[in-house]
Amino acid sequence: MKITDVEVIVVRQNEVKMIGDGSQDTAVILVHTDEGITGIGEVDSSPEVVKAIVETPASHDQCRGLKEILVGENPLNIEYLWYKMYHYSYYYTRRSVGIHAMSGIDIALWDIAGKKMGVPVSMLIGGRFREKIPAYCSVLMPGTKEEIDELVAHHKADCNYNGYKFGWGALGESEEKDIELVEYCRQAVGENTRLMIDIGMRWTDYKYALRVSKEYEKQKIYWLEEPFAPDRTEDFGRLGDNISISLASGEEFGTMYEFKEMLDHGSVDIVQPDMSRCGGITMAKKIADMAQLRGKKLIPHAFKTGILMGATLQLIAAIPNADMLEYCAQETVLSKQLVKNHFQLDSDGYVHIPTAPGIGVELNMDVLDTYRR
Ligand SMILES: [Mg+2]
Repeated sequence: MKITDVEVIVVRQNEVKMIGDGSQDTAVILVHTDEGITGIGEVDSSPEVVKAIVETPASHDQCRGLKEILVGENPLNIEYLWYKMYHYSYYYTRRSVGIHAMSGIDIALWDIAGKKMGVPVSMLIGGRFREKIPAYCSVLMPGTKEEIDELVAHHKADCNYNGYKFGWGALGESEEKDIELVEYCRQAVGENTRLMIDIGMRWTDYKYALRVSKEYEKQKIYWLEEPFAPDRTEDFGRLGDNISISLASGEEFGTMYEFKEMLDHGSVDIVQPDMSRCGGITMAKKIADMAQLRGKKLIPHAFKTGILMGATLQLIAAIPNADMLEYCAQETVLSKQLVKNHFQLDSDGYVHIPTAPGIGVELNMDVLDTYRR
């Protein structure tokens, strides 16, 4: 089997709002082969930049576009191809969006392998620890008590989620408001529901972070996510060492090198690679092992479409240290409709992990064609 083409389709809803919602657009990756099997992937990054990285012509031997590195290769040589992409695009792709583009391709290659062998990807990366996973509802933080109550009531009526995470939005404006909003969230979700808070990297002052986190301890927060920008490793370390709440981070990181730095020095308890940014399924599995080695949970970041959710579920099936699934509850057309039969929760708030070959998703071509740019 040979790769014949790597296609990047930019998909975007009609109007993009300046809010922390990554499900308003996406870069869909299709890796085509000479056997008629097409692998599906997705990248949570800037879609047009991803497309350029895939399609760019070579400048010299260490600076080549990802498509020309891959065409003609056997798509089943997945890890070899990961390192080949990394090596021959080294000038511009050691970190950040180059790794993002590689991630979407890597997901598509695993999808091809599963389809070729007639098994879900989880069976190719170690087998299945579980058939279902509890899902938590991931939403943006509203600005008032009334909006928080309304949002929780809406989602409680919809699904029996195993926890709620409020992130970004109105957080980070002031110390008083950060404390107040989380009190409202606890009241809205109730005493016995897992509550997670994602500061969205908005805190800049360590002592501010320490004071507010101490207040959050009273609300029994299950984890506190990205209080600081990801490069503030030392502040992650000292905050993690001085509060009893678990710290979570990782969605901005790519490659095992960045995760090693975070795990060795960042005092992070919950590791959150985004499979469409960290280096794909190949790298996420290594990161899961690195977390397992240190006794940490791995709960991937996934705030995009059903493609990323499908890939994420295959990893979750195959690792011992999974705990919950981030369920993007933003109701955008792409988050809910880009794949057919978008994942639904069962009555206990679990999502069942697909057993179909590959990552187990089928694109809704009508939605793809309507929103492609
Ligand atoms: Mg986050």
